[in-house]
Amino acid sequence: MEVINLYRVEQTVIPAGSKGPTALPVVVAVPKEMAPGEQRVATVPEVVQKLTKSGHEVRIEHDAGTGAYYPDELFTAAGAKIASSRTDLLNGAQIVLRVQPPTVAEVDQLAKGTIVIGFMNATHNLEAVARMRDRKVTAFALEFVPRITRAQSMDALSSQATAGGYVAAILGADNCPKFLPMLTTAAGTIRPATVLILGAGVAGLMAIATAKRLGAIVEAYDVRRAAGEQVRSLGARFLELEINAEGQGGYARELTPAEKVTEQQMVSAAVARADIVITTAAIPGRKAPLLITKETVATMRPGAVIVDLAAESGGNCELTQAGKTVTEYGVTIIGAQNLPARVPFHSSQMYAKNLQSFLALLIDKDGAIVKEFTDEILVASILVHEGTVRHGPTRDLLSGGKP
Ligand code: NAD
Repeated sequence: MEVINLYRVEQTVIPAGSKGPTALPVVVAVPKEMAPGEQRVATVPEVVQKLTKSGHEVRIEHDAGTGAYYPDELFTAAGAKIASSRTDLLNGAQIVLRVQPPTVAEVDQLAKGTIVIGFMNATHNLEAVARMRDRKVTAFALEFVPRITRAQSMDALSSQATAGGYVAAILGADNCPKFLPMLTTAAGTIRPATVLILGAGVAGLMAIATAKRLGAIVEAYDVRRAAGEQVRSLGARFLELEINAEGQGGYARELTPAEKVTEQQMVSAAVARADIVITTAAIPGRKAPLLITKETVATMRPGAVIVDLAAESGGNCELTQAGKTVTEYGVTIIGAQNLPARVPFHSSQMYAKNLQSFLALLIDKDGAIVKEFTDEILVASILVHEGTVRHGPTRDLLSGGKP
């Protein structure tokens, strides 16, 4: 598989548009998310209140927040206007805030020059990207926000991975036939369950913290040795294996074929003794590494559970089926998809705050959309602008060339 460098930045100053700055109010529109199972919404009343107090107009599509338990009335009380149709919502809107990428049909509803911000899943969503290019829509992809200290408040990958890690631990516990904590009762003593977390990035660390709070014995492993300190600080045991695969920008690099074999062998003993395994291992732009083979699953105890957070990018377990829960060798294997949508109230709140911080880069102190996209965070995250795909790897894929 080819490596896609998702973070290639090519230009440092991008003119925002030929129309120049727009005077107050900026009209911000938030559509209802239409992707199956998506319960989140891109803004929440608290953020709406801040925007409307600054003089901007916020429009929310009718029922957009219902799935996340933010009813229309709360948005109205925060100063938003409720739009009863998509046409009313978008008519004259300058900025559209989304969670999931727009579909081609949704892009067709956007007027030229509209700025749309959200997860774009750019390299897997080429048709919609091409349509945004052709309709001269401007799109910012939150997955490309650089993971620098200044951008932490807009790091939606992290906020949503936090939600995903939490839900993974809860799902694991819910599907496990055992108690997680140790119990000393008149009916005997119960030994605590063992939870193993593979991949101790943002989601993995949250899964560790949650499983610890539930009282389990927690072990964790990551190919980045630096993750060991964070794991231990949460009270979990870090499995010291012989591999250190620190890559660029704090991410892991892909292992060599020999390292992969070593890792699978070393991880398998820990997998066999675990009651719950939560896997989160990922390498940006690549298929998820295979950590648990079919043979290893066969060594697990009946009733054990695997929650595979990498299901959508190929799975860390060989038997994972994305979007499905299957039982193999008596082991429940959960091909987790979009776990943040299972805690939509808080994941929407965190996401909305991320977007609020991002908007502060786009709207200047006078309340107008900036004339030029000079901020390095805007430059890194711009996907499409004025008829051009600005993100090189996506453009290369669209033109059929190599990324
Ligand atoms: P990710 O989702 O890309 O990967 C999850 C984890 O899987 C990572 O910890 C990675 O090391 C691990 N992994 C990859 N291959 C593996 C393998 N073969 N076996 C075991 N584990 C494997 O990563 P993420 O959670 O988004 O973040 C990873 C890093 O980025 C962390 O160091 C995190 O602290 C850092 N980060 C920094 C900032 C910031 O500075 N603003 C923000 C977020 C994350």
